[in-house]
Amino acid sequence: MTIQQVKSVLEKSAPVMLQENYDNAGLLTGNPAWECTGVIVALDAIEAVIQEAIDNNCNLVVAHHPIIFSELKKLTGKNYVERTIIRAIKNDIAIYAIHTNLDNVLWGVNGKIADKFGLVNRQVLQPKNNLLKKLVVFVPVTHAEKLKEAIFSAGAGQIGNYSECSFNSAGQGTFKGGQGTNPFIGKPGERFTADEIKVEVIYFDWLEQPILKAMQLAHPYEEIAYDIIAIENQHQQLGSGLIGDLPKPISETECLGLIKQQFNLSGIRHTAFTGKMVQRIAVCGGAGSFLIGSAIAAGAQIYITADIKYHEFFDADGNLLIADIGHYESEQFTIDLLIDILKENFTTFAVLKTGIKTNPVQYFL
Ligand SMILES: [Zn+2]
Repeated sequence: MTIQQVKSVLEKSAPVMLQENYDNAGLLTGNPAWECTGVIVALDAIEAVIQEAIDNNCNLVVAHHPIIFSELKKLTGKNYVERTIIRAIKNDIAIYAIHTNLDNVLWGVNGKIADKFGLVNRQVLQPKNNLLKKLVVFVPVTHAEKLKEAIFSAGAGQIGNYSECSFNSAGQGTFKGGQGTNPFIGKPGERFTADEIKVEVIYFDWLEQPILKAMQLAHPYEEIAYDIIAIENQHQQLGSGLIGDLPKPISETECLGLIKQQFNLSGIRHTAFTGKMVQRIAVCGGAGSFLIGSAIAAGAQIYITADIKYHEFFDADGNLLIADIGHYESEQFTIDLLIDILKENFTTFAVLKTGIKTNPVQYFL
């Protein structure tokens, strides 16, 4: 098994194209062609984790946070990022980061948090725009099935848990071949009317090239008539944050107690109690202040996240309870999620959970 195969499995769960534009997810060091000798999974690929990989004969570190995040212009070892990269490169350790792309899938970082509360009716809190496009292609009736087969295989026609979705309408297409043409039916210089099917499918933007290629290979015409249309639909399972319901309402103090216990916390920073019962819960692992408004709009009674600043706590404004449970703490189960995906797909090498608590935040109690 190569590093590339591990990368492909992870990217099937959380396509790298789903990362935010400020992010740097993907393979950060190493060569995709290397044979994978073992994987260490961590939230942060810091120097100690690279050493742990070396000690355990694992040449791949899969981390949630990209160790190279901002511009890296020198590699002299003057800070922890440079030292980590130097140690990784010197020891042929690949570092792979799966960051906001894993935040942006409903079954990712936030799905794992939601599991801890048994949340039902789960939805993305802020669905993503501009991920979907539509292909409209005109194909002779005789080749419609073959063409659909090809574009479905390339990933077109996926809506939620449904695949091979298309709309098909019959009609007539006309064409007249000019000089030097060799029309599939009819003769050059004469207008021909062909029985055609108009096939409409939606697809993820990043699958456009393979889908168009599949369409071209399966279509019999020299010149293919097709339209690519940008659509405004939001994708309901892709985006930031998650909202869901507890099976039954509990009090605010019970809810904080439950969080404390499930996440093994020594304390929680939170806003004033609103006095409401809690059933609808919004979550966002890691820095989530940008979703306070969405959590309120979605009718959440509590918003569980991290990295809330002083003035942002005021934004709760009596509408809901904000619980800041700590960045590392909120994402701690992401490691298990990644381990589960890897173990399910690979049995030929070890997949280990880091033994290092990489949280840079300490609490003096
Ligand atoms: Zn994070």
